[in-house]
Amino acid sequence: MTAPTTNRYIEAAAKAVQWHQEYRIRMRSCRFDTIAVHGIYSMQEALDFNQGSIIEPVYMSTSQGYRDSDEMEAALGYKIPTWCYSRIANPSIYYLEGVLALLEGFGTDIDTSCLATSSGMAAIQSATDPFLITLPGQPAKPMNFVATAQVYGGTYQQFSVRKQQERNIEWRKVIHSTDLNEWESLIDENTRFLYGELPSNPCLAFFDIRAVADLAHKYGLPLIIDSTVATPALLRPLAHGADIVVQSVTKSLFSSGFGICGAVISKKDITTSIDIPEMKSDFATYLKLLPDRDNGPNLSPMNAILALNDIRLIRTKMDLFSRSTMTVAKFLESQSHVDSVNYLGLESNDCHELASRDMVLVDSEFDEQYGKKVNRYGHLMSFRIKGNAKQTRDVFDALQMIWRATDLGRVKSVATIPAISTHSQQGEEGRKIAGIPDNLIRLCVGGEHPDDIIKDLDRALSVLDGKTFAVSSPEFSAGGASSAKLGDG
Ligand SMILES: *Cc1c(COP(=O)(O)O)cnc(C)c1O
Repeated sequence: MTAPTTNRYIEAAAKAVQWHQEYRIRMRSCRFDTIAVHGIYSMQEALDFNQGSIIEPVYMSTSQGYRDSDEMEAALGYKIPTWCYSRIANPSIYYLEGVLALLEGFGTDIDTSCLATSSGMAAIQSATDPFLITLPGQPAKPMNFVATAQVYGGTYQQFSVRKQQERNIEWRKVIHSTDLNEWESLIDENTRFLYGELPSNPCLAFFDIRAVADLAHKYGLPLIIDSTVATPALLRPLAHGADIVVQSVTKSLFSSGFGICGAVISKKDITTSIDIPEMKSDFATYLKLLPDRDNGPNLSPMNAILALNDIRLIRTKMDLFSRSTMTVAKFLESQSHVDSVNYLGLESNDCHELASRDMVLVDSEFDEQYGKKVNRYGHLMSFRIKGNAKQTRDVFDALQMIWRATDLGRVKSVATIPAISTHSQQGEEGRKIAGIPDNLIRLCVGGEHPDDIIKDLDRALSVLDGKTFAVSSPEFSAGGASSAKLGDG
């Protein structure tokens, strides 16, 4: 029996929940920038509970204390909103989850929820593994999932090694993601979910989310989209019919580059053949309260607030980054040492038209500067050098402002050669399937003036005319010894 005082806590909590819900609904009627700036942190909450702090506080504490055993019991039984222990929840992390949920659902009446994770890879694992289970009493059957072959290198490893090799769960690869027949031909009664990354890292593959979502739902399956490269400022897959979005928040959302962070955002009542009612009705919250509580891929509150702070101006940043990237892409396309450029903004791109239908700078029609919907394609691009692997490395090595790093989404421009870094572990065959040749350079243009980035690229490309440049000398380099040799980022 529940003691009467427990009910007191439950009743009070119900009122608080109602108030928060109403506040969220109020925020939903604001423009994107307003939501990104304020999120779910209200003035009332600041004044009543956080000493008027206008910035969301960092709750740097592992756990929450309770008034008495009744409150504790109600909290641990999930009968009242609680954060009890920071592996499960934490107020600072709630602020981040709240804003990401609102931004991914922006412009729709879709009710969304979000789970923040320690990394993008943890988000992908959290979002996919709950579909790869056998419920008690059910016969163990072979399982598969259908996912685009053009995915981030870490995702490729998680799918091919951790799921397929180690757990015998078949990854059925979609090679041409614009071909709906190919998607459909891979689905059977043992398929658990469809998964696609778009635009893909590093080759910017793109497909029709609505059409693939309809296909998934026809077979009673969820569609999961990795939307890292677009961010909610340019594309919101839930609005196009996806059930679940994963974000490597680490990238453009967290553009200052202070930390690693991921997120799973889901709509209510996802489509799935797994018969767990709580999982269907509110997937992200289910993950948070159950599987992720038990598995523990949680975020640190400090990183949550740092990420949150970067997200406030995401729309303006993605606009600037995208415009600069377009300028740089056009420059590269005109260069005789460049074989081809992958950027969805270029008319030469096969998916330009489709991407132009879906990739729009959110709220640009309300922007004084534009007054209409304008297309923006993000800041990830890649290009092939007209030359071999060695010549590609020579160009890469001659960059003096663009960082050589396995990273992207930064306010500083960053480049990498995927074949020797982010996509080295999947091997030659895996790279062939994913379309990642040796002469490909991935470039993510940051907030510098594009003229300076173009100068750097122009100078680097001139090594192919026989020019030489000294790069930094090893004796100035201190930290190299401790770095792990893993191709991430
Ligand atoms: C980087 C990246 C990931 C992995 O995210 P981490 O935060 O590095 O774990 C997943 N998907 C895409 C598209 C990425 O670029």
